[in-house]
Amino acid sequence: MANSPAGILIDCGLFQGQEESRGSSAADLAIDFPIDHIRALVVTHVHIDHVGRIPYLLAAGFDGPIICSEPSAIMLPEILEDALKIGFTRDRGLINRVLGLIRARVVPLPYGRWHSVFEEEVGSLKVRLQRAGHILGSAYVECDVVSGTAAERIVFSGDLGAPHSPLLPEPAPPERADRLVIESTYGDKNHEDRETRRYRLKAVLEHALEDGGTVLIPAFSIGRTQELLYEIEGLIAEFGDKEIPQATKGSDPLGSDPTLLPATDSRLGAFGVSPQGDRPRSESLTWSNLEIVVDSPLAAEFTKIYRDLKPFWDEEARALVAAGRHPLSFEQLTVINSHEDHLNAVEYLAKSHRPCVVIAGSGMCAGGRVVNYLKAMLGDARNDVLFVGYQAAGTPGRNILTYGPRGGWVELDGERYDIRAQVHTVGGYSAHAGQEDLLRFVEGIPQPPSEIRIVHGDEAAKRALQGKLQKVVPEAEVLIPG
Ligand SMILES: [Zn+2]
Repeated sequence: MANSPAGILIDCGLFQGQEESRGSSAADLAIDFPIDHIRALVVTHVHIDHVGRIPYLLAAGFDGPIICSEPSAIMLPEILEDALKIGFTRDRGLINRVLGLIRARVVPLPYGRWHSVFEEEVGSLKVRLQRAGHILGSAYVECDVVSGTAAERIVFSGDLGAPHSPLLPEPAPPERADRLVIESTYGDKNHEDRETRRYRLKAVLEHALEDGGTVLIPAFSIGRTQELLYEIEGLIAEFGDKEIPQATKGSDPLGSDPTLLPATDSRLGAFGVSPQGDRPRSESLTWSNLEIVVDSPLAAEFTKIYRDLKPFWDEEARALVAAGRHPLSFEQLTVINSHEDHLNAVEYLAKSHRPCVVIAGSGMCAGGRVVNYLKAMLGDARNDVLFVGYQAAGTPGRNILTYGPRGGWVELDGERYDIRAQVHTVGGYSAHAGQEDLLRFVEGIPQPPSEIRIVHGDEAAKRALQGKLQKVVPEAEVLIPG
């Protein structure tokens, strides 16, 4: 739409990882591109790297509609409220005014329905959203563009989900795309299949819990946390009474310091950490009595929204609900909300070495509550860090993944922390399509696109996907925009 007098903007996000070197101060986040011709903002999904700069877009004077799917319309004000509180202002009145503006502009568009954005003398543009299977509400965007006498269909993938990811239906390829803009986060990697990674998750958790201690899973509050809860609930349902072996069994099944954990201890319960956790110390650790903690108010809020929006779940998940299961609210699950409870939980778990699985954000360890857990727990070999998502170059998560297994250190808030905790990764839980999934998405388009632009990934991932795409769709010109 570069030469057109009118256009749309697809997503308006914050940078992540090394991209942050481009700046994250208010001045750098300011909108530095022309917006007068932008008739609408279309939001593919509510991850912060796709929506984080919307307040700046409004501040720059953008006054068009914000078009997104129905679930995204519910989640967008929530995620932006959180982002505003952290990075923008503590002024409650200002936050409410920005959120009011956003709510007034949002146009919820049902999946599969065409929506006319503008029809002007020189051209017109319609958009349609299709399920992208990445997080709840995620969409890829089909645009029918008419400019003069030329008409074409341009498709923007947004972030595409992996097939067989828990909870959400997988994306179907578009029926047509003359030009395609596609993400490449995992353009150079494939994922483990669903069953393999499910049992890998089980094996890693069991191994990690053998010596007591906490298994810390850094996870995005939206999407990844809910997928993990879904999978863990499934493991609990399948393996309920199966014992999780304890290396210190016989002496101290909890692997904990008895002076810190009396038999009737209820400190976890006192700040809302699983009452189920108060099992007698003589009792063995099983899947049924394993404590799962989600320590994140944002994740708690989004887990609730996920629960409320069951019509958008896939068939498998809805069948579980019909059978009486509660994939996102099982009894072993404890949610920590207040900051004080969070600090207590960190201190208690770090000292007690009680076997426990903690899911906390942010997913790449670049901020959020997971940082306090890392500071308290990385130095103890009984603890484990389990990565289940993409770690961008330059993030603490990537550094822990790289240097942890070599006995290295990581810098958190300007200080070095030695990594003695074991570091694991189960790759298949990425909410992003793997290389094969991306290729299948493109190959599934009946008439191959004449042009494909690869965006949203490391250079290596982009180049790898480019090479593959040039082979599978030789008709297409495959570009990596600079
Ligand atoms: Zn995303």
